Amino acid sequence: MPINPFVKMTSTVIKHLLGPTACKMYPVEKPVFFANTRGHIAIETNKCILCTLCAKKCPTYAIQVDKPGKAWKIERTKCIMCLACVACCPKKCLTSENQYSAPVTVKVVETFNVEPPAAPKAPETCPGKE
Ligand code: SF4
Ligand code: SF4
Repeated sequence: MPINPFVKMTSTVIKHLLGPTACKMYPVEKPVFFANTRGHIAIETNKCILCTLCAKKCPTYAIQVDKPGKAWKIERTKCIMCLACVACCPKKCLTSENQYSAPVTVKVVETFNVEPPAAPKAPETCPGKE
């Protein structure tokens, strides 16, 4: 005998009401981030040489590099976490952090002041010469 659709629906509703929930009660219940969660891009400003490669590779133009102003900027609402910038950085100073950045209601450009590492000093005398 086929099951009455109303009985089937009621049992499904009761099962989901009493069983474990799939949704989290955010923000009361904080999300769990996995090790490889693509959260946000971070920069180690003491390693950056302002080469602009990351800005050129970024498909959404989320990154701006201001060489004269010695600043690295990111508009996080444009970032799609493709990690192209992380892959291309010659100094490996960009990383993907597994925490999401704080939600915003307006577009914000985050600015990081960069102090490029000093170029190695030329030796004062030629090696082998007095
Ligand atoms: S973050 Fe890396 S790729 Fe981007 S400007 Fe700095 S050194 Fe160059
Ligand atoms: S992760 Fe992708 S979209 Fe985000 S800043 Fe880097 S290159 Fe741009």
